[in-house]
Amino acid sequence: MKIIRPDKGEVFDIELDEDLLRRNQKLAEENKKLLDSHKILAIDIMGSVGSGKTSLVVQLVKYLKSKYRIAALAGDTATTIDAERIKSAGAEVMEINTGKECHLDANLIKKALGELNLDKINLLFIENVGNIICPADFPLGSHKRIVVLSLTEGPYVVLKHPFSFIDADVIAINKVDLSQATGIAPAEFEKQLHELKPSLKTAHTNCATGEGIAKVAKALGL
Ligand code: MG
Ligand code: ZN
Repeated sequence: MKIIRPDKGEVFDIELDEDLLRRNQKLAEENKKLLDSHKILAIDIMGSVGSGKTSLVVQLVKYLKSKYRIAALAGDTATTIDAERIKSAGAEVMEINTGKECHLDANLIKKALGELNLDKINLLFIENVGNIICPADFPLGSHKRIVVLSLTEGPYVVLKHPFSFIDADVIAINKVDLSQATGIAPAEFEKQLHELKPSLKTAHTNCATGEGIAKVAKALGL
């Protein structure tokens, strides 16, 4: 089959402008230094629209709030629905509306960190906009990454989007209660993920109920 690909040096996506990526990288390093100086562990959460990112953060906040002082940054294109949900779970929350932008970047995180009282927290969750493609190109300055991969996304996500998973530390294989309905076995994703990167930690989750959340927390060292 004939496959059309961009030639080397041909840039189709303005987001992949090298200068922009370099500037983002520099700001991400500054963010990490700032977080380190306040002894804050930052974890970003990436996943497709509807994969269960907010539900995961809500469950992690409920599970960890007696042990950590938690804040969350909720990236969303337009609404505060996610931010309200996370706030109700017991974390301080700041909303980042990206408008038409389909990802968070280090500059937005820098602005948000400037608004938080960093001496009051020691754990920060950063929920990215629902999208697994371009957020992978924009490090934010976090220490660890969770990718939420839901069974409802179809069987080929890992094979089609390896770059979305390769920089992650933990993959929450979510909506495991829908295994029968989707015809996808969580173990199949697990196998693909470990072939991609043997050190990836995985947890089977149902973020609606909290199933598997303890395992996610443990995989993050929390
Ligand atoms: Mg969300
Ligand atoms: Zn984007």
